[in-house]
Amino acid sequence: MNYCIPTCHGSSALVVALEALGVQYGSEVLVPGLTWVACASAVASIGAIPVLIDVDSDTLCMSLSAAKKAITPNTSAIMIVHLYSSVADIDGFLELSLQTGIPLLEDCSQAHGAKWKGKRVGSFGDAAAFSFQQTKLLTSGEGGAVLTNSAENYYLLQQIRADGRAKVKQPIKGYLDIEEVGDVQGRNYGMSEFHAALLIEGLKRLDEENEKRNEFVHSLKTKLNRIDGVKIQGQPSELSFPVYYHLCLRFDLNFFGNSTIDKIAKALSAELRLPAVEPVDVPLNKNKLYCPLRSPRVPSTHRELLNPERFELPVADEARRTCLTIPHNALLASPDESEVIIKAIEKIRYNFLLRTESGTESA
Ligand SMILES: *Cc1c(COP(=O)(O)O)cnc(C)c1O
Repeated sequence: MNYCIPTCHGSSALVVALEALGVQYGSEVLVPGLTWVACASAVASIGAIPVLIDVDSDTLCMSLSAAKKAITPNTSAIMIVHLYSSVADIDGFLELSLQTGIPLLEDCSQAHGAKWKGKRVGSFGDAAAFSFQQTKLLTSGEGGAVLTNSAENYYLLQQIRADGRAKVKQPIKGYLDIEEVGDVQGRNYGMSEFHAALLIEGLKRLDEENEKRNEFVHSLKTKLNRIDGVKIQGQPSELSFPVYYHLCLRFDLNFFGNSTIDKIAKALSAELRLPAVEPVDVPLNKNKLYCPLRSPRVPSTHRELLNPERFELPVADEARRTCLTIPHNALLASPDESEVIIKAIEKIRYNFLLRTESGTESA
């Protein structure tokens, strides 16, 4: 992408990008039903309507066929999210965007550095948003950015981010390097230079760290063949360089004494001494953090449209029932150590099976 606009958070990157893409008050934005809450709340925060779309059963990213069915004359943007260890069907969504003229926004907050057919994610859509919050693959504690190839959007994005101001062509030492323009109503979502400095250094390590995690997961994948009933979140064949914000594993609970994913995650977390081994996000139609109707500013005409419970997300529900994630920092270990995860899963399975055989309640 030609242009990058740093912001204070990933959430504000989404807001700024949606506004620059022309998302109007009351229009609809397609958002995957399984993702971080900010994807939907950013849309609602600018008065637009998040339309929750179910995910693909293999990749757990937004389902292309479900998205096609949800498009109406009022759809103003499609927000795809490259989730956990995978990416959305970029080619499919690009084609849909071209056919319909609806802009495509890529949320890359969980996929820094991943490549689709050799090209970085975030360089395909009309704009891309990134988060650099402390849990992400590239971080400054808090932070975000929007990427775009369009000079026109770049000019708008700058103003939306900085109270209507944009970069001056020739900065003069001692003066602020932005000037007052005011083509649109902006707000202040700027990133500090201190945060930017951290990111510039972190960026130098990103590819190397991603490669290290890839070697680890490669080793783990081979060993996982030994265990029935556990597999890695599906990755499209076009994903030429995957990255692992969260390594997402899907469990066939039948092989684990029909236990629950919450219990398996808790046991695995204890075995690995890793607090952040957790089931995947609660789908947004029943996620307690996504409660747009509790906002003080819901117009009565939007009440029904904003109700998250009007959406059905059976595939996302199934993912929440069967999938857990392991955080990226654990995957920086040497590839041999993937054996530790395998042993822990085998032990847990043995324990859960034993409990069902002896008829005792699993704890
Ligand atoms: C983290 C995240 C965000 C929000 O980023 P913040 O920097 O925490 O505001 C948005 N979308 C996705 C997919 C994320 O993972």
